[in-house]
Amino acid sequence: MYRTHSNGELRLTHVGQEVTLAGWVQKSRDKGFMIWVDLRDRYGITQLIFDEERTPKDIMERAKALGREFVIQVTGEVIERVSKNKNIATGEVEILVKELTVLNKAKVPPFTIEDETDGGDELRMKYRYLDIRRNPVKNNLIFRHKVAQEVRNYLSKEGFIEVETPYLIKSTPEGARDFVVPSRMNEGQFYALPQSPQTFKQLLMIGGMDKYFQIVKCFRDEDLRADRQPEFTQIDCEMAFVEQEDILTVFEGLTRHLLKEVNGVTVGDFPRMTFDEAMKRYGNDKPDIRFGMEFGELNEVAKHKDFNVFNNAELVVGIAVPGAASYTRKEIDRLIDWVKRPQVGALGMVYVKCNEDGTYKSSVDKFYNQEDLALWAKATGAKAGDLICVLSGDTAKVRTQLSALRMELAERLGLRKPSEFAPLWVVDFPLLEWDEETERYHAMHHPFTSPKPEDIALLDTNPGKVRANAYDLVLNGNEIGGGSIRIHDKETQSLMFDHLGFTQEEAKKQFGFLMNAFEYGAPPHGGIAFGLDRLVAILGGQETIRDFIAFPKNNSGRDVMIDAPATIDDEQLNELHLKVEL
Ligand code: ASP
Repeated sequence: MYRTHSNGELRLTHVGQEVTLAGWVQKSRDKGFMIWVDLRDRYGITQLIFDEERTPKDIMERAKALGREFVIQVTGEVIERVSKNKNIATGEVEILVKELTVLNKAKVPPFTIEDETDGGDELRMKYRYLDIRRNPVKNNLIFRHKVAQEVRNYLSKEGFIEVETPYLIKSTPEGARDFVVPSRMNEGQFYALPQSPQTFKQLLMIGGMDKYFQIVKCFRDEDLRADRQPEFTQIDCEMAFVEQEDILTVFEGLTRHLLKEVNGVTVGDFPRMTFDEAMKRYGNDKPDIRFGMEFGELNEVAKHKDFNVFNNAELVVGIAVPGAASYTRKEIDRLIDWVKRPQVGALGMVYVKCNEDGTYKSSVDKFYNQEDLALWAKATGAKAGDLICVLSGDTAKVRTQLSALRMELAERLGLRKPSEFAPLWVVDFPLLEWDEETERYHAMHHPFTSPKPEDIALLDTNPGKVRANAYDLVLNGNEIGGGSIRIHDKETQSLMFDHLGFTQEEAKKQFGFLMNAFEYGAPPHGGIAFGLDRLVAILGGQETIRDFIAFPKNNSGRDVMIDAPATIDDEQLNELHLKVEL
């Protein structure tokens, strides 16, 4: 037996016992006649003591040679400490060491294995196995395990069956590029890695599985915007014989279960908001509703004066920033620069200070009098002491810009509190989305999403207005889940492919298997998928998913530890019938 106890286990009640421990040397303090070593494992830290008077001489010598991160095993007696350490669970005892075995030496680690480390991101990624020894990373992985376990508990109790689906498949249309894998046995042919198990879970419903889930890797070859990973994990779910309401109920239940079991937080019924409403009130289909600053549209009160910037705009819209009337000219200028950055893209910003004495001071005083500005304050809900920030322009663009400003200001004002949870459902998404680049409609969710039956007629006349039976679960300004009721008949599915610009041939080639399956008794069905990495990060009070992934990739999609992707040798290329031309 390597150890009788873990390093997080021993207490005063163990005093007098002989124990054997194993772990890593966190640090050692050598006073000459006495040496203390902190021994660490996953469970905690236990202090070892080597004492000239009580420890055999050879062991004393070997203890002096211990370096950081050496792996050792010790046997000794649990004794009460003279000076106790209240900060650690084992802080009342220490081990008077009688035997010491060095199980493995270690080089000096390239960064300190402490909660606050001196290692930069890239270095810690390169030596991720050392990083995982640190409490913050270790605890995140344990936390993730807990969330995954609770997902399984809840869904199993609800009658869901976890089924694995294949990774070597064919393109799945989730809107990204596929990662492809050449087939050695089928010359010139390629598998695609799943962007999600979407088609398989639908086939499982046709197979009668009724309630399916899977905690599963998905692969999407996208340009990695901040905090995305090319491979990520979904809690993927599908149910048969359900309507949207059934799905929302089950998965609201899952989210509530997780908040309760993992965070000890009880939340009431989740609010529902249509996509249109979310865009109008927050300029965003994943609004953070932990704080106010809702949009106030100002077209009626701000247009038709002499200010042409507003007269020529499709939308004039503002938010009231609480307590920000005291911002200095310089601070406001910096805010204006912030909205003009290319990432936000506003042309400028108009502001109104709502003074404590009930008067207003604005950047457009030339065009608007106090009564006008009072109407702006009313529309944005501004109170004395607030600053109204107003943007104008093309509706879709200006909403996105003001939403970015709203989130930025909330961040600066400390309104995005990690320990507060505000979930909501956003429903009635548009079925289709116009893509400027390709000049055609794309499925906003994916091509298997069912249009609302009452909107199907609009497909020919006003496709952009067709609503889908699609929904997102939003938590603290992040989309943590999304799904839809699916099309389950061949005719509607073909109609959908037509509208997405697939020829009959293409649709058959890519999705013939699903269309065929629809002809063998496909039940009505629908589902949802949660992004597990993001969900775990948010429940953990953080927003960076990387911190909750054992071996993440960097922003260029590289694993800097194993150095992948990498070239392969000619022999392997030949076997795969591939030639690389750069
Ligand atoms: N397959 C979808 C996705 O990955 C989720 C769903 O519709 O269930 O976003």
